[in-house]
Amino acid sequence: MSDVCSPVSRQLLPVEDALHRISSSLEPVHGSEQITLKSALHRVLAEPLHAPADIPGFSNASMDGYACRCEKDQPFQRRLVGASLAGHPYRKDLRPGECIRIFTGAMLPGEADCVAMQEHVEVDGDIVHFPGNFQPGQNIRLPGEDIARGQLLLQPPKKLSAMDLGLLASAGICHVRVKRPLKIAFLSTGDELTALGQPLGPGRIYDSNRYTLSGLLAEYAAADLGVVGDDKDSLRQCIVDAAGNYDVLITTGGASVGDADYIAEILGEIGQVDFWKIAMKPGKPLAYGKIGQCCFFGLPGNPASVIATFHQFVAPALDLLSGAGKTRPLRFKVRCSSALQKAPGRQEFQRGILTRHDDGELTVTSAGKQGSHILSAVSRANCYIVLADDCTGTEKGEWVVVEPFSTRLQEAEK
Ligand code: AMP
Ligand code: MG
Repeated sequence: MSDVCSPVSRQLLPVEDALHRISSSLEPVHGSEQITLKSALHRVLAEPLHAPADIPGFSNASMDGYACRCEKDQPFQRRLVGASLAGHPYRKDLRPGECIRIFTGAMLPGEADCVAMQEHVEVDGDIVHFPGNFQPGQNIRLPGEDIARGQLLLQPPKKLSAMDLGLLASAGICHVRVKRPLKIAFLSTGDELTALGQPLGPGRIYDSNRYTLSGLLAEYAAADLGVVGDDKDSLRQCIVDAAGNYDVLITTGGASVGDADYIAEILGEIGQVDFWKIAMKPGKPLAYGKIGQCCFFGLPGNPASVIATFHQFVAPALDLLSGAGKTRPLRFKVRCSSALQKAPGRQEFQRGILTRHDDGELTVTSAGKQGSHILSAVSRANCYIVLADDCTGTEKGEWVVVEPFSTRLQEAEK
């Protein structure tokens, strides 16, 4: 157990070192369960899945048109003898000189080897005139073209996306074995915190962090353990109880060095403090460690710090623990249309607004005031502007690294 008050502990740990220490302290949870595909979004695959059959399972048309056996490189004509619709195939083989009407996704009849787009033929009663530039295989989707029978569809580590659900459904897979869900709990600490719906007394504020965390943790169905006041004994008891029941416990507030900040002390008493303070802004006071098997994150109290430390440390830790593997956020460089102020010493995650212009160019601008208590700028922002420890600010027009919150951007007002 480390002494949280030692001079070494008082030094600020660089963000990358903190990330490394977290990842090397974690192992994916054991255990799996079989669930329906419908409930598998964001769950982590526990075993490789192979295609039970070819996809597509039969030759079919990729266009609305006419199917026939073609004559290469010269115009030809065929007699229209029937139709094949999606789900209603033409059941006979084509005989020489015949063609059928066919629609996208409909099964190709035996002996047909191409589909002519309907725009490319002329129909005269029951005679169809085909132009002279045909090749066998044209406008046909072949069996197994997407996935061949027995081919690997997905393998761990893999957190299932909407696209994965579609892929598995296309193969007829209706149940999947996934890792057991993580058990996560979070709570707020602070005597000043007031529940929504209650009037605010003097010096009191609403507890916003629990709302932020329940949103950030939505895919994990985490337990909200409420608010615990700044009383060391009741806070310790609450943390001990939760640590026995959850894989991950996240607290906000009380992680700093104020008289009523007990989190790091309690963690040192009942578990192991891995680190406590990091060279990051916002988010310096972050206590990380273990209480028995429970992974503990004592996040700062300031709302912007909660969000930044969650994104940078908790999110990748949850990916690792849940079995989804080691992940890293999407980051890239864009020009910044505002000058940014920064003092050297800590890596900063300034809140920015990323814009995609009509010519495809991306730029970022500051989302406004950067104080760790300023929630409005975080809400307005759609990305972090990530500034290195030694950066001393940037000029307007400089390249900066951004990390989007999500993949869709609000359109800029014209
Ligand atoms: P602390 O780390 O407890 O000293 O809190 C730092 C700052 O964050 C203080 O201004 C607290 O009032 C504020 N704070 C702590 N917890 C919350 C919360 N759950 N919601 C909103 N603000 C909070
Ligand atoms: Mg507090």
